[in-house]
Amino acid sequence: MTDDAAILRAYDDVRARIDRAARDAGRDPGDVSLVAVTKTFEADAIEPVLARGHRMFGENRVQEAMAKWPALRARYADIALHLIGPLQTNKVHEAAATFDVIETLDRPKLARALAAEFERVGRSLPLFVQVNTGEEPQKAGVPPRETLSFVRQCREEWRLDIRGLMCIPPIDEEPSLHFALLSDLAKEAGVPSLSMGMSGDFEVAVRFGASHVRVGSAIFGTRTITPQS
Ligand SMILES: *Cc1c(COP(=O)(O)O)cnc(C)c1O
Repeated sequence: MTDDAAILRAYDDVRARIDRAARDAGRDPGDVSLVAVTKTFEADAIEPVLARGHRMFGENRVQEAMAKWPALRARYADIALHLIGPLQTNKVHEAAATFDVIETLDRPKLARALAAEFERVGRSLPLFVQVNTGEEPQKAGVPPRETLSFVRQCREEWRLDIRGLMCIPPIDEEPSLHFALLSDLAKEAGVPSLSMGMSGDFEVAVRFGASHVRVGSAIFGTRTITPQS
């Protein structure tokens, strides 16, 4: 059983906080997209938000998204599903068929595999390069100093459509430093979009120029299942 009213209240609150943060920063609220992160939540929790007209969602696992989204897509048009979790090269075929945007391009081997898949199916997805702004050994992402050359290589060598940069700051650090770094890198690389900010820090991310904030628990509640990745 899900509490539709509680989810909708939380959704409206997050939207209002994004709009306010954008206006406070002198930005147009229409320039900030909310990626509603639905990992671990079932269709019945997602339905109220879809019925409200929301269309942009994020999932971190290919298998989970494949199980959940085809049925929802059959009922709601224009869904934009973002992959925000790690992608194995042996899953690029499924990922390209399931998602509309991949936010976690983080290595040459994956770039090559995606380029080959897009060539094969004759359709190319917009991509974000994930940057490991905190240079954490356990975390995915290109190191900051390699970001410019990686973006250039993706565009020139593999003809990939690099739209943005994405980061997940270290949990124990001030996120604004990481958001500022990601914003600087995007400007230098000539990349228009910035995916940064989660439930705990999306307003800060908006202040630092986020075009996409990825918010899950602030809308859908605490996740009871630990997502595997
Ligand atoms: C789960 C997840 C989010 C959303 O996190 P919340 O704290 O629930 O808002 C954002 N980005 C990524 C990459 C995630 O895996």
